[in-house]
Amino acid sequence: MNNRIVTCILIAGLLLVQLFSGCTGSTGTFTTQSQTLTSTPIATTTTTTTTTTPITTTPPITTPSITTTPTTTPPPDELLTVHFIDVGQGDSILLDLNETEILIDGGDNSADIVPYLQQYVDGDLEVIIATHPHADHIGGLLDVLNAFQVKQIWHNGDTSTSATYSNFMNLVQTENAQVYIGKRGDHITTGELSLTVLNPSSLSGSTNNNSLVLSLSYGEVDFLFTGDAEKEAETSMFLSSDMPLSDMEILKIGHHGSHTACSKAFLIAISPETAIYMAKEGNSYGHPHEETIVSLSDIGASIYGTDVCGTIIVTTDGDTYEVQTEKECQVEITAPVTATPTPTPTPTPTNGNVQITFIFYDGVVPSVESDEYVEITNLDTEPINLQGWRLVDIDDGSPTFTFPSYILNPGQSIRVYTNEIHPEYGGFSFGRGSAIWNNTNPDTAALFDAEGIEVSRMSY
Ligand SMILES: [Zn+2]
Ligand SMILES: [Zn+2]
Repeated sequence: MNNRIVTCILIAGLLLVQLFSGCTGSTGTFTTQSQTLTSTPIATTTTTTTTTTPITTTPPITTPSITTTPTTTPPPDELLTVHFIDVGQGDSILLDLNETEILIDGGDNSADIVPYLQQYVDGDLEVIIATHPHADHIGGLLDVLNAFQVKQIWHNGDTSTSATYSNFMNLVQTENAQVYIGKRGDHITTGELSLTVLNPSSLSGSTNNNSLVLSLSYGEVDFLFTGDAEKEAETSMFLSSDMPLSDMEILKIGHHGSHTACSKAFLIAISPETAIYMAKEGNSYGHPHEETIVSLSDIGASIYGTDVCGTIIVTTDGDTYEVQTEKECQVEITAPVTATPTPTPTPTPTNGNVQITFIFYDGVVPSVESDEYVEITNLDTEPINLQGWRLVDIDDGSPTFTFPSYILNPGQSIRVYTNEIHPEYGGFSFGRGSAIWNNTNPDTAALFDAEGIEVSRMSY
């Protein structure tokens, strides 16, 4: 799967209009790729009863009328289209089945998705879902609430101090819609569409991990919409016994393709055929992260991103699905990181490159000369601890100065005086009341590291 490239086959827009009546509002040319499903049919017998959680604040909320889990069985010839709308750095996804539409997130407040939605929304926009209160998900919903009559509004119950959030909630309160806080096990149902809430089970301190995560089964084609859920939420879903994860044909990748999402265990559990991330080209976060693309490549997923593909539309009849992209695109995959053996690190030399760089002796007062010194310099690029190192008068065999623990930084010099203390040079002294470096000709100083290896020698 190295350097695997997802390629798209360009098909004329006219043909697409004929093939997909649900896309008749589309402008421009879309690129199409077909997928034939190999998954086993979904079970259709499980029906659980779950009560959703209406908000009890004003306006008065009516009791939700739908409390069961119908598996969406597509009537013949009815096409579901799922639009992953290019909103730059943010998420916005429109589900469109005949006259029923559901919008998951709206991008940020510059997303301007209303004109796009008006091509597809028939009458009311039945459901709006705000996965979490971050501005790149709810900012664009303000325009949407102003432009459309909405029947159900779902959010995760998390709050934010941002103006965007308070403006959003103000509009939610005045929309005269049914407002619900979604939790694991709830079902968001309108017309023939029903989404299952897989996350959160309860709110944590992590805004992204509180994202509403939603699955949708349309016939045999399964979608997973993850908001900005990261590995913490993935683990929570993975470990949940009441809502087991199953194979998904199409995954909307969590958190814009960040490496904080898409753990390997999660990807293996859902084994998506097609993975879609939503991000802006050249975004400052570096989304999608290479690690994520490599993980998806490793499991064999076809990868699409709104940064390179523009808006991405998945169309399905419940048996097969096709992926159309606004722009011809390919998500290039860097070669997977193979198990290259870690090179054995080069041992750091214990002595580095420390040299005696000067011996000062002026011979003015030969019997004392307390101001003589030996200068020692770190010529290496790494700091070196001199603890246990010794400076020795070789010709006499003594005296010896043994260093205490002292970090000698690259380029730094210290001095070992014969009998003076100069803190600016390290404050080292032999403490010897008679001259050291004038009594033989030549006189030789040598420096030994803590293991007794000579590292430098200078004669005077
Ligand atoms: Zn986001
Ligand atoms: Zn977020």
